[in-house]
Amino acid sequence: MAPAVLDSVAGLRGAVAAWRADGLTVALVPTMGALHDGHMALVRAARAHGGRTVVSLFVNPAQFAPNEDFALYPRNPAEDLAKLAGAGVEAAFMPPVDAIYPPGFATTVHVDGVTAGLESVARPHFFDGVATVVTKLLLQCLPDVALFGEKDYQQLATVRRLAADLDIPCRIEAVPTAREADGLALSSRNVYLSAEERRVAPRLFEVLGWTAAALAQGAKSSYAVANGTAALRAAGFTRIDYLAVCDAETLAPVERVAVPARVLAAAWLGKTRLIDNVPVSPAD
Ligand code: AMP
Repeated sequence: MAPAVLDSVAGLRGAVAAWRADGLTVALVPTMGALHDGHMALVRAARAHGGRTVVSLFVNPAQFAPNEDFALYPRNPAEDLAKLAGAGVEAAFMPPVDAIYPPGFATTVHVDGVTAGLESVARPHFFDGVATVVTKLLLQCLPDVALFGEKDYQQLATVRRLAADLDIPCRIEAVPTAREADGLALSSRNVYLSAEERRVAPRLFEVLGWTAAALAQGAKSSYAVANGTAALRAAGFTRIDYLAVCDAETLAPVERVAVPARVLAAAWLGKTRLIDNVPVSPAD
């Protein structure tokens, strides 16, 4: 069955209230649409909770800088709704921009700590935009659980932080990164890659894997990162915004891996910026 399309906060709250009156739990999957199998992995994890699932589809202008791809960001609402229908999702929340940011809107949610460095260097306004819209979506829907991908690891850490700090009564669940067969993390922006760039793109995951393996064997981060950066350049990445080894929870940089850590990277192929990350565990 096609999902109910909800385009107002009142409509969303009404649907959720009706489900709650029937004793059903609610799972929320926030997305910007242009759904691919990575998003659908979140949807499947949401459906596994057994209650009702809401998928929000909202290209959030607040997380794009003026020089970024807001206007060009892929939008396929008809295809998205067909995918959600196939997955058995009950509701799609597709608000217009002024339902989220009505005239006079003046509030920003800012998270410190986990937002420092990494993505924030190239995209200084990004996490305020994400934190503000995710806070609003969580409060609008008040789901039992909201699901986020490990693909956007710093975003996941930011959402965990804000939900805890603001006492939002909702569990945040992380879903592992869904990948193409060759390792490339699924992303709505992969459609921007030329055939040659698409051939190079999986090397990002490969280099992250080598870097994590070197760290697990006891290599220092500075050494592993220098090798990894050289390997990305040699593979054809035209610019490397960062390749970093961080504490998996606080995202503070770590020089020697003694606690669960994460290797995170952002690198460019021509005009397309790819991000990815992998876990690294301490050597025995
Ligand atoms: P987006 O539409 O890009 O804002 O992504 C919406 C949600 O899907 C976020 O929680 C992302 O982390 C998640 N997501 C995007 N790509 C993937 C992927 N390849 N695997 C798992 N989750 C993903």
